[in-house]
Amino acid sequence: MSLPTSPKGALLSAAADAPPIEIDELSPPGGLLIIAPHPDDETFGCGQALAAAAQAGREIGVLLLTDGAGSHPGSASYDRERLVKLRKDELDAALALLAPGKTITVMRAGLEDGCSDLEQLGLHRYQRIVAYARALRAKSVWATWNGDPHCDHTSAATLGRMISDDIGVGFWRYSIWGRFGERDVPHDLRLFSDGRFEQRKRDAIAAYRSQTTRLIDDDPDGFVFPQEILEHFAQSPEIFIGG
Ligand SMILES: [Zn+2]
Repeated sequence: MSLPTSPKGALLSAAADAPPIEIDELSPPGGLLIIAPHPDDETFGCGQALAAAAQAGREIGVLLLTDGAGSHPGSASYDRERLVKLRKDELDAALALLAPGKTITVMRAGLEDGCSDLEQLGLHRYQRIVAYARALRAKSVWATWNGDPHCDHTSAATLGRMISDDIGVGFWRYSIWGRFGERDVPHDLRLFSDGRFEQRKRDAIAAYRSQTTRLIDDDPDGFVFPQEILEHFAQSPEIFIGG
């Protein structure tokens, strides 16, 4: 996936006129399962909505599809083990900033970053994930949008659809990389924004130092968010797409 350098695209243009959505519709009283392909997607894609759901008393669980080890594959100072630990710590810090005083559990699906294939999950692990969603008393499932041009994000979308169908609850997709560039745009776009949580989201984004700074400086192919894109996520409404 090539990184966008400016925050423009067909989805953003279409979303400019989209109606708002309230947290009670996105996440009815009960539990909420959020599927994040990588540590940081939950913050960049739906951090304000996550904060609002926590504030409204929802029991939130995050299903992490991959450990994010693919962001800096060539670093010598951060080998795989150290990078995975760092990204886990960043996720924990971001969730604590988005939902202070609340407990958000994280379940790891253990798929491989960059080439996640739901076939690898197997029936047993899938059933454990469904049991996790039921234990949360999930009334809604959120996952990345299948229009995001990244295979892990489309896998998350497919998995989210399967789980929400299995437990019979609503399904919403949040967009990250699909916000940018030209692509087919779906119809049911809704915008979430709540100024009470803007600073929390900024702080949570900043907690992802491995993804937003040159903290890991010995991998020329390492991932870092372009500055203009970072600012876009910090200040723009979150885009949700109906199931
Ligand atoms: Zn991602």
